[in-house]
Amino acid sequence: MSEGTSVTAPVQPQAGCTGLAAVRARLARALAEAGRAPDAAQLVAVSKTVPAERLREAFACGQRAFGESYVQEALAKQDALSDLAIEWHFIGPLQSNKTRPVAERFAWVHSVDRLRIAERLSAQRPAALPPLNVCIQVNIDREPTKSGVAPEEVRDLAQAVARLPRLALRGLMAIPAPATAPATQREAFRRVRALFEQLRAEGLPLDTLSMGMSDDLEAAVLEGATLVRVGSAIFGARPRPGH
Ligand SMILES: *Cc1c(COP(=O)(O)O)cnc(C)c1O
Repeated sequence: MSEGTSVTAPVQPQAGCTGLAAVRARLARALAEAGRAPDAAQLVAVSKTVPAERLREAFACGQRAFGESYVQEALAKQDALSDLAIEWHFIGPLQSNKTRPVAERFAWVHSVDRLRIAERLSAQRPAALPPLNVCIQVNIDREPTKSGVAPEEVRDLAQAVARLPRLALRGLMAIPAPATAPATQREAFRRVRALFEQLRAEGLPLDTLSMGMSDDLEAAVLEGATLVRVGSAIFGARPRPGH
């Protein structure tokens, strides 16, 4: 915990472990309210645009899983933090010419939304590493500007991805359209959950529902999220909107 005693230190409202502790408390409260086990949902700290030193700080506060959206930025931070046992999650849109470093240097990819990307990740995953954990991103509210496969296309893509040898298909990821009313937030997450349960009923061994961010993590946890991806509530507002 930094105490702000130095007059020259920049003001960081979320410095040290404060933001992380607040989000952990929110997550614990939501899990308790849902009647779920305290460890039933994992926190991925979304650190896009956040300098490496602040990830190091969060690591010192006990955080191990970090989510990044931009390949070049992520690789630079991985180099700067190579002494730390971080679990790296890729959560952003992925172009096929950028799959190799992601296959080589991440543990998870949450944003698979077409077979070609999945095939490349599988082919490029080094034999010495465990299979790459992946989620299929679902465009649950069919927003034209958002990545993700349409809900009715999830099943075919999931069946195909599940057959790729160097990937472990773990579940679904979604970012619903922004909504402030908790009931609206929950309704969208409930639709993602229903898709997930349907795939499981068809025999896919899925265990991960990646949903919930700074503004809606409680709603996501109440609807069964097993992994929440939280950025600004931990690290403070990002410099550019949409980033
Ligand atoms: C940026 C981002 C987040 C985190 O968003 P916050 O609102 O800052 O918590 C989560 N998931 C994805 C895919 C993101 O791009």
